[in-house]
Amino acid sequence: MYRTHTCGELRLAQAGQEVTLAGWIQIVRKFGSITFADLRDRYGITQLLFGEDLNAQLDQQPLGREFVVQAKGIVLERTNKNPNLATGDIEIKVTAFTILNKSVTPPFTIQDETDGGDDLRMKFRYLDLRRNAVKKNLELRYAVNRAARNYLHENQFMDLETPFLIKSTPEGARDFVVPSRMNPGQFYALPQSPQTFKQLLMVSGYDRYYQITKCFRDEDLRADRQPEFTQIDCEMSFVEQEDILSMFEGMIKHIFKAVKGIDYTEAVPRMTWEDAMWQYGNDKPDIRFGMSLLNIKSAFLKNGEYPAKGQLLAGTDFKVFNDAETVVAIAVPGCADHTRKQTDELTEWVKRPQIGMQGLVYIKVNTDGTYKSSVDKFFSEAQLKAIADAAGAKAGDLVLILAGAEERTRKAISELRLEMGERLGFRRKDEFKLLWVLDFPLFEYSEEDNRWVARHHPFTAPKPSHIDTMIGNDPVIGNAAEYLKHPYAQIKANAYDMVLNGNEIGGGSIRIFQRDLQEKMFAALGMSKEEANHKFGFLLGAFEYGAPPHGGIAFGMDRLCAILGGSESIRDFIAFPKNNSGRDVMLDAPSAIDQKQFDELQIKLDLKQ
Ligand code: ASP
Repeated sequence: MYRTHTCGELRLAQAGQEVTLAGWIQIVRKFGSITFADLRDRYGITQLLFGEDLNAQLDQQPLGREFVVQAKGIVLERTNKNPNLATGDIEIKVTAFTILNKSVTPPFTIQDETDGGDDLRMKFRYLDLRRNAVKKNLELRYAVNRAARNYLHENQFMDLETPFLIKSTPEGARDFVVPSRMNPGQFYALPQSPQTFKQLLMVSGYDRYYQITKCFRDEDLRADRQPEFTQIDCEMSFVEQEDILSMFEGMIKHIFKAVKGIDYTEAVPRMTWEDAMWQYGNDKPDIRFGMSLLNIKSAFLKNGEYPAKGQLLAGTDFKVFNDAETVVAIAVPGCADHTRKQTDELTEWVKRPQIGMQGLVYIKVNTDGTYKSSVDKFFSEAQLKAIADAAGAKAGDLVLILAGAEERTRKAISELRLEMGERLGFRRKDEFKLLWVLDFPLFEYSEEDNRWVARHHPFTAPKPSHIDTMIGNDPVIGNAAEYLKHPYAQIKANAYDMVLNGNEIGGGSIRIFQRDLQEKMFAALGMSKEEANHKFGFLLGAFEYGAPPHGGIAFGMDRLCAILGGSESIRDFIAFPKNNSGRDVMLDAPSAIDQKQFDELQIKLDLKQ
């Protein structure tokens, strides 16, 4: 037997017992004729005490960092207790030890505060995983996994596996493809999600399905994305949107309770996509704090003139506002005392290419009741007050205003709101606020192809009252500049996202389950009948054999864990993640393959430069 106890287990109650531990040497300290060593395993750290009697053996077999050691000894009460360690009241007086394996000097210290940089830690990820900080993250991930499974099992969901080598199921990203040796010249695709399979399982009658599974998307990796990631993927039959919302609100609350001990009893608020976009400038608002947007033009321009050019507030002559498509404001609490230097810095911040604004206008609502702004020349104090009041500013607040083209300005003010929320400490990592965003547009305009693409995916059902608009109108857009006027721009979907602290953690929809409507959907996306049959004939066929009404959702497991763990980075919660260029630096993958492998696949490599 290698061990009687783990390194995290022993307490004063075991004093006097003979025990055997096994683990890794974290550190060795020599004090005169005695030697102390910290022995670590997954469960904790226990101090070993080697007396004089073992010095000869220690001289012959010196201990080093990360050596694997088995130590037999007696549990003793420590004279010098360590309150920061769970086992800090005791130590083991070693009577015999064996070095089970040596270690070369590790490339970084395996401690909470390590000296290893990111790249080095990723290259030696198996050592990084020994660190307590990383281990805690994986433990949290396992707790989330367990809680989800328990909840879904209790609710009659079946965990069913679906294949990885499939035919492309486009969901807006590029597929990873895998060549088939047995079918030369043909390729599988790795699933972007199990979407069509889970729908087929509904057709088969497995009315509650789930799977915690990998999805693969060959996207340009924006910050903190992974080419393979994990979803808690779910589907249900005979449900309406309301059934899904309540089932999965339940699941998330169960996870909160099981993993964080949080009783999230209040109902998750709901907001339409339209409201989210106008109140927060984005479709995944962080509602841990207020500072919602004021659309100044629609607030002050009368007679439905918005969006339009025109004088903002009678008699004002500020071209920047008058000419802009959109003028939006937020009231930042308690920042009226910002100095010139601070407001200049904010102006620079919004001018950065990522934000892309021309400038920033501010109004200070001073505590003495006066108003001071960067546009005093153009606006009377009464007008400044009118804007500040409409933005919900109180005495001591700073109103920040951006003007420009609608989409960019809305995005910019949303970023500015998040930045100010961050600076003011409103985005607390230990506060969790959930939100459902509903009624997403069914279609999105693709500038590249001048056609409609599915905003969620092509299997999402339009709102029943919008089906006629979809069927009754030609999808062709014609003049690209006019796409917003096309009736399709108004069609909403039975689609929903769950948002946590400003991050989309889950998304899904009620599905189309009739062949003819699904065919019309494919046609609306510019697919010919042949193309639709070639790509999705199996699904269209299945819909002819009694497909039940169904819908589902998938949660991003990695992101959910990162937020619950208070981290910005999903990589911290994945045992073997890839870096920002999609590389596994430990394996050095992707990499070239042998000529023999190409030959077997009957593929000749001819890389275009
Ligand atoms: N398959 C979808 C996704 O990956 C989720 C769903 O609609 O259930 O986003």
